[in-house]
Amino acid sequence: MDKYIYAFEEGNKEMKPLLGGKGANLAEMTSLGVPVPPGFTLTTELCGEYYKNGETYPEDFDEKLKVAVKDLESKMGKKLGDSENPLLVSVRSGAAVSMPGMMDTVLNLGLNDESVEGLVKKSGNERFAVDAYRRFMQMFGDVVMGIEHHKFEEKLEEVKSAKGVTLDTDLDASDLRMVIVKYKELVREEKGEDFPFDPMKQLRMAIDAVFGSWNNSRAIKYRQLNDIRGLLGTAVSVQSMAFGNLGDTSATGVCFTRDPSTGENKFYGEYLVNAQGEDVVAGIRTPKHLEDMETEMPEAYKQLTDIMSRMENHYRDMQDMEFTIEDGRLFLLQTRNGKRTAAAAIRIAVEMVGEGLIDKETAVMRVDAKSLDQLLHKQIDTKADVDVIAKGLPASPGAAVGKVVFSADDAEDWVENKGEKVVLVRNETSPEDIHGMAVAQGILTSKGGMTSHAAVVARGMGTCCVAGAEDVKVDYANKKFTVGSNVINEGDMISLNGSTGEIILGVAPVIDPVMQGEFETLMTWADEVRTLGVRTNAETPKDAKVAFDFGAEGIGLARTEHMFFEGERIVSVRKMILAKDEAGRRGALDELLPFQRADFEELLTLMDGRPVTIRLLDPPLHEFMPQTEDGMKEVADQTGRSVEEVKSMVASLHEINPMLGFRGCRLAIVYPEIAEMQTRAIFEAAINIKAKGIDVAPEVMIPVVQSAKEMELMRGVVEATAKQVLEEKNVDIQIKIGTMIELPRACITADKMAESAEFFSFGTNDLTQTTFGFSRDDSGKFIPVYKERGILESDPFAVIDQEGVGVLIQMAVEKGRATRPDLKVGICGEQGGEPESVDFCHRAGLSYVSCSPFRVPIARLSAAQAAIRNKCSSCDCGCQ
Ligand code: PEP
Ligand code: MG
Repeated sequence: MDKYIYAFEEGNKEMKPLLGGKGANLAEMTSLGVPVPPGFTLTTELCGEYYKNGETYPEDFDEKLKVAVKDLESKMGKKLGDSENPLLVSVRSGAAVSMPGMMDTVLNLGLNDESVEGLVKKSGNERFAVDAYRRFMQMFGDVVMGIEHHKFEEKLEEVKSAKGVTLDTDLDASDLRMVIVKYKELVREEKGEDFPFDPMKQLRMAIDAVFGSWNNSRAIKYRQLNDIRGLLGTAVSVQSMAFGNLGDTSATGVCFTRDPSTGENKFYGEYLVNAQGEDVVAGIRTPKHLEDMETEMPEAYKQLTDIMSRMENHYRDMQDMEFTIEDGRLFLLQTRNGKRTAAAAIRIAVEMVGEGLIDKETAVMRVDAKSLDQLLHKQIDTKADVDVIAKGLPASPGAAVGKVVFSADDAEDWVENKGEKVVLVRNETSPEDIHGMAVAQGILTSKGGMTSHAAVVARGMGTCCVAGAEDVKVDYANKKFTVGSNVINEGDMISLNGSTGEIILGVAPVIDPVMQGEFETLMTWADEVRTLGVRTNAETPKDAKVAFDFGAEGIGLARTEHMFFEGERIVSVRKMILAKDEAGRRGALDELLPFQRADFEELLTLMDGRPVTIRLLDPPLHEFMPQTEDGMKEVADQTGRSVEEVKSMVASLHEINPMLGFRGCRLAIVYPEIAEMQTRAIFEAAINIKAKGIDVAPEVMIPVVQSAKEMELMRGVVEATAKQVLEEKNVDIQIKIGTMIELPRACITADKMAESAEFFSFGTNDLTQTTFGFSRDDSGKFIPVYKERGILESDPFAVIDQEGVGVLIQMAVEKGRATRPDLKVGICGEQGGEPESVDFCHRAGLSYVSCSPFRVPIARLSAAQAAIRNKCSSCDCGCQ
């Protein structure tokens, strides 16, 4: 690591991993001739080394930093700490992946008792200069020296009350000088040392703080929540300051080249006159709309909008930019690909294809598959008669219904410990609130705009948010808020409509989303490129219908046991379990047959010729029996058995490790009559539906198989019953018989398994359980700790463990296809709808993934992205 400081002129946008997003884009803009205040960036590699070497820098660090500062001074014609013409800088974090507001920033660095006088002279505005010094001391004291923010606020208040005023703006330069004296005393009291006077020392300390903030708890939480892994650290950009608070010809703002909420192709932004950047983001003052700038500052507006268009064309993506106007002169402080809602992402991607900016594959890659979840969520029924009490900005779409809480800690407590659904109500949010925002149904703020912290973070999380609802008066002390005469206390129910900004009293009705327009277009493009099939796990007609509407190409797993719980069926199931002999069991199974057949008829009709993989009974029988005294009495009544008999059966079904016990195909091997009834139901249903002219393609799937012998035996049972039914009805229907692969032994012996299995479906819930030796029902106790300590990168029950389980899957696919080259192979564990796992399935050569209905669109898009990502022109890896 020879070079670790880059002037903006030395970098470009491809250097994100090294310079961080901010550093790389500042460099890119500089090289494009956009007005950017000069500066330099310390690399992420340096941050990585800093941590690796016990928070120390390379030996030549001070030397190199000095050279970079000198270089910047000569570019600016100013000097750090100078009493005539001082250079002031901002010190900002910027990782390769944007983590808005999570790490530290210091502005106005370089001010001290001497340079502040230089700033007075240069700006000709004493109040501005002294206020900048005061702000710097406060920010530096808080962020770098760790003195709590409110202690500075208290000192400020002392000066205000001594003068008998309430607003900061009522303080003049000499009052602010008084505040500075008090701040100095505060630092001495708190730290036992003086506020650092030497600007180079200030810079070193600020860099330490920014690197340190890479591992603060909120940054770690943010990375966990957003699955950000494998980064070296943050870069630090040191940039000369441009001032948006030099008076009414100065301003600062944030703008987007398209609407980040809806995706509409129009400039969108907010600004504040006579303010610093942090004022917009903090949401303390409600900013003006960008359109107002056209009349207020026409020249700067024209220049800004020209740059916005240029940057969007250059990056070929929607840009989120920060700007400052210093006394009429425009500077760009940042550009990055803007965060957007899923709806906006889709609209922007599709429209950019129409505009010739990107191609269809790029559009498919642009939408975060996981974020589709936001769209699949419910919306407030706009036709319903609801009591709208106020309106704020529609900052993040969707619907939220929950109990009002006023702090992030309460939000977390109510959700995690009381199982409540909450809406977090705040004046504004800050990065400290992230844990509460993550668990809330929705977020309501009374202040701030569409680019406030609450709005940006909520959009990123896909959480509904209404921001800047000025009629909402929050009273933290009494845990209530008022809107006119309405008083809403902690715990009261409210609803938010994040798409309109409406705040609704009580519980508003919510409806399912409609998937149309650009969504369908994008999905069509995704379907054109993907090679993996997408099926669903569903057994109820309702779920199957939802999945079908979302584009499922069949059912990859119908868990028949779920059908056994409905209505009277459970009584027959219990009779079967309590039967004393085979005849008794067959009697109970005869009662179940018509129900089961009707279930299959419904599913087959609905799927209209698409494959329907029906799994024979899997769970241990105790799951069908009650565990309480009252429940056992009820079962005794229903089945005509004595309570003692029921109790004794429940006791005999008890197992120490039921997941490794009497379940799966073991049940059918001991009681073949269960499999016979289910096979009969499947074949009879298929025959009946086919007779109506509807195509059918059921598949019989045997669960928890560990050996080829088991599979052979089960195949025999299914075939014999099928033969009998087909002869009775005098028809011929071909139905595939296959197996789930849920045990390591099944993977190892997959070549033999494939001799009697016509298809495989990886049950990665059980395969993960048995490969790791982690109980899928109990691992919640330690997996979070494993993730925190870095033993696991992610929960293997959510994301396929490619190193272990993945290798078994690959082995099974290879062995299976060695025996049966046309073997269809799917996955039906929970991971089947998770993007990273879908990518793995694509690479492993699976034929399809099967997932829960609401994840079908995510799987379709992920499968397309996997196909594009893994495309290579000359390989034999099977990715084509
Ligand atoms: C599996 O084990 O992955 C599976 C789909 O089956 P179940 O979750 O029903 O055990
Ligand atoms: Mg299983």
